[in-house]
Amino acid sequence: MKPDLLILGGGPAGLTAGMYAARARIPVLLIERGISGGQMAATEMVENYPGFSEPILGADLAREMEAQGRRFGLEIAQEDVTRVRSSDGGFSVTTDSGREYSSPAMILACGASPVKMGIPGELDMAGKGVSYCAVCDGPFFRDLEVAVIGGGDSAVEEAVYLARFASKVHLIHRRDELRAVKEIQEKAFKEPKVQIHWSHVPLEIGGEREVESLKVRSVKDGSEKDLAVGGVFFYVGLSPNTEAIDCPLEKDAGGFIVTDPDMACSVQGMFAAGDIRSKSLRQIATAVGDGAGAAYSAQQYLESL
Ligand code: NAP
Repeated sequence: MKPDLLILGGGPAGLTAGMYAARARIPVLLIERGISGGQMAATEMVENYPGFSEPILGADLAREMEAQGRRFGLEIAQEDVTRVRSSDGGFSVTTDSGREYSSPAMILACGASPVKMGIPGELDMAGKGVSYCAVCDGPFFRDLEVAVIGGGDSAVEEAVYLARFASKVHLIHRRDELRAVKEIQEKAFKEPKVQIHWSHVPLEIGGEREVESLKVRSVKDGSEKDLAVGGVFFYVGLSPNTEAIDCPLEKDAGGFIVTDPDMACSVQGMFAAGDIRSKSLRQIATAVGDGAGAAYSAQQYLESL
């Protein structure tokens, strides 16, 4: 199949765009490097996606979204995109397997990845007690103390999740007020295993072969303390997955792709949807809306050619 539309990324934005495009009978190919669902698939429970009165497993929601797209004929290639370029009248994509794809229109839905703080010990201890995914790694920390860095939805939600396994969860937040939505905050306040270290920042991770401690500093009085933890989970925000995109796109100060309200990027024929896009609210619900809008705009663009 020679696609008219390539969609990069199989999270909720990409899967929705794929479903809409396939249903509109656009020859479409979605390229995803891992399993479908993106960050959604690595979320334990989703309780704020409309249509489910009871919380649903992120992995189950991902499977349903993929199955729904496939029902309309959506094709998915499991490959890692290494380069995206504008080419004559369209775009070309190279993948890790050396394959090349091209299409006149493209939707970027590659999402975002956890930001690395780069404190001493963080990168050396990745996989040895440092993690960016509580759902993936939480069970390894049964009966151990762990630290979670950040005060947003992810940090607070995952701190509560980790309390199932860990003997204690130290939540390290740089301010004296959490950023997370109130309902998530209330769960953390109610969880006896979660101890919040207000106005503290992480300084350094200690340990020989694996994480044994975390040094933190008070931003109020500069005092330092060592926490005896076996794991450190970082949730200090997201950075857009744009490394492979070699096109002159307009981006915001954080590197997120700027679009118009119809998801069109500054390069004609290119659209962006989901967490990779510059916007104020990153949720499954907003990613899904972006994906539908991007597919519709891509369809109109293709019809105009
Ligand atoms: P976020 O909302 O950007 O929060 C990042 C947190 O890390 C903030 O509390 C921030 O502190 C802290 N932080 C940032 N840089 C830091 C540094 N250098 N040192 C110490 N702390 C630092 O990121 P997120 O929680 O990963 O969420 C990303 C997006 O996904 C958000 O839009 C969020 O709403 C969404 N999300 C939604 C759900 C849900 O709806 N259930 C779940 C997860 C994520 P400050 O507060 O001081 O800035």
